[in-house]
Amino acid sequence: MPSDGRSAAQARAAIAAALGQIGFTLPGTITIRRTRCGKPRCACAADPPSLHGPYIQWTRTVRGKTVTRLLTPAQYHTYAPWFASARQLRALTAELEALSLAEMARAEGWAKITPGTPAPPRTRPVRGPNPNYPKPPKTPGDQPA
Ligand SMILES: [Zn+2]
Repeated sequence: MPSDGRSAAQARAAIAAALGQIGFTLPGTITIRRTRCGKPRCACAADPPSLHGPYIQWTRTVRGKTVTRLLTPAQYHTYAPWFASARQLRALTAELEALSLAEMARAEGWAKITPGTPAPPRTRPVRGPNPNYPKPPKTPGDQPA
């Protein structure tokens, strides 16, 4: 962490420059999974099993509810950099906030300022609809998780 205002300003400028270069960013996470269908005579139930998939599952939150959509391998190939940009954006935001907190503490003469608790991870286990949530209107193309 910079110990004087000048280097903090330089660190901020470096973060701002990186933000200025960032590409498209997509929310949510990608999970690639292979599954069993549950039919007893299917190859996925054999020993060793031949599982279905891989399925490329994009999971994100829309109005408080987890929604998923399957991506084709071609779509995954196209948009993987957009998910990587989103991770970079979150890292840069966290870096800028930490730098700002340190700068505030320095400017105010505070010995220490405690950073906030990090946001919970965006990845949540895929599960059924939450009965406590009213059903939001469906976004075209999105299926409830
Ligand atoms: Zn099967």
